[in-house]
Amino acid sequence: MIEIKGLNKTFITPYEKIEVLKDINLTINEGDIFGIIGFSGAGKSTLIRCINRLEEPDSGTITIRGKDITLMNKEQLKEARKKIGMIFQHFNLFDSRTVFENISFPLEISGMKKSLIKDKVDEILDLVELGDKKDAYPMQLSGGQKQRVGIARALANEPDVLLSDEATSALDPQTTYSILELLKNINKKLKLTIVLITHELDVLRYSSNNMAVLEHGTIVEKGTTESLFLNPKSDTAKKFINITN
Ligand code: ATP
Ligand code: MG
Repeated sequence: MIEIKGLNKTFITPYEKIEVLKDINLTINEGDIFGIIGFSGAGKSTLIRCINRLEEPDSGTITIRGKDITLMNKEQLKEARKKIGMIFQHFNLFDSRTVFENISFPLEISGMKKSLIKDKVDEILDLVELGDKKDAYPMQLSGGQKQRVGIARALANEPDVLLSDEATSALDPQTTYSILELLKNINKKLKLTIVLITHELDVLRYSSNNMAVLEHGTIVEKGTTESLFLNPKSDTAKKFINITN
């Protein structure tokens, strides 16, 4: 459902030209939890940000459910982005809004009627098991609870795809697993495709069905998570497995 072909991205700074993504080709199936792993600076965030065009690719195509996102104009992109949720390492919540208001925000932007918004937010709060925190402010929540709000907000517009940029990296191991468990439930229940980037192999071992290894802007290996663990071929994948075990 997400098809990335020949994707390239270079950053030009006053000091240097950094080729961050080099000829990336990936197919992410509908309903996948697709993991992308790589060391710091490999280009993971840039790659995931290209999928919703928070970053503009230099060349290549990114097709989501048959529509090439790289060809869209501003209006089309705005519509397409409603169907692409995103969650972040540091949650990126609105500190001055309550949990309810954080989740209702994208619905207000979409122009949903107030009466409908309330039901929708309550439904999502149930899904992420945060109903009792709906009037709390982010500073009153634990990291895991904040990420649940982040996930809830990303789900508000019923996206087809959820992009996760190191969403568990700021959390302790136990909270990490509870968030991964939630993502797995959502994936199953809502048939939501999830793209998970991380530098922690355990995160993918626990949650993803397919994965790719990114090294210096190049995909050096891809396949089922199981096959990568059983029979890693690239040096980078081997390094990750040795580091973890
Ligand atoms: P980490 O695991 O540390 O988050 P990453 O794999 O997500 O790393 P990216 O953030 O995609 O890596 O960065 C890849 C490379 O691109 C790095 O060398 C980084 O310095 C460079 N880079 C990223 N964004 C920009 C930018 N806006 N301008 C210039 N260089 C950038
Ligand atoms: Mg990153």
